Amino acid sequence: MAFYHSKPLRFECTQCSQCCYGGKHAYVRVSKQEIENIFQFLKIGKEQFEHDYLVKLVDHGFGIKMKQSPLAKAMGKQGHCLLLNKDGHCSVYPVRPTQCRTYPFWPEILISEEKWNNEVTRCEGINQGDVVDVDFIDQQKKLSVEADIVIDE
Ligand code: SF4
Repeated sequence: MAFYHSKPLRFECTQCSQCCYGGKHAYVRVSKQEIENIFQFLKIGKEQFEHDYLVKLVDHGFGIKMKQSPLAKAMGKQGHCLLLNKDGHCSVYPVRPTQCRTYPFWPEILISEEKWNNEVTRCEGINQGDVVDVDFIDQQKKLSVEADIVIDE
């Protein structure tokens, strides 16, 4: 049984955008459906979106490119998602990919209480706010796993 079934987890997103930052070679995984949702939301052509924003991943599928910028530097990071706007907020929030929607309820973070608590160095919303429903956590974790697998469909 997962540890959070016996230990209630609290989480409240503060919209700090720290989860949009990462290393130079990090990426945000996107499915074909998510790609379509995003370029339509941005009202730009598919080819332009693919050229400007996407990177083909070595294993399978596509990711949103990361960008090195003064903003990332100021945050002490190597890069951030290319879809962050000048104010440091997600420019496609209503259609953001599953990888973003399900954070921080990813299997690798939920694997132990220690991992969950350590993630607070990245996500200030962890252990803040109300207790999150266990069924919701399980559902988010499942969606995150599925998004990693069913990426080319
Ligand atoms: S790092 Fe955590 S608190 Fe900050 S935007 Fe991401 S999920 Fe929300």
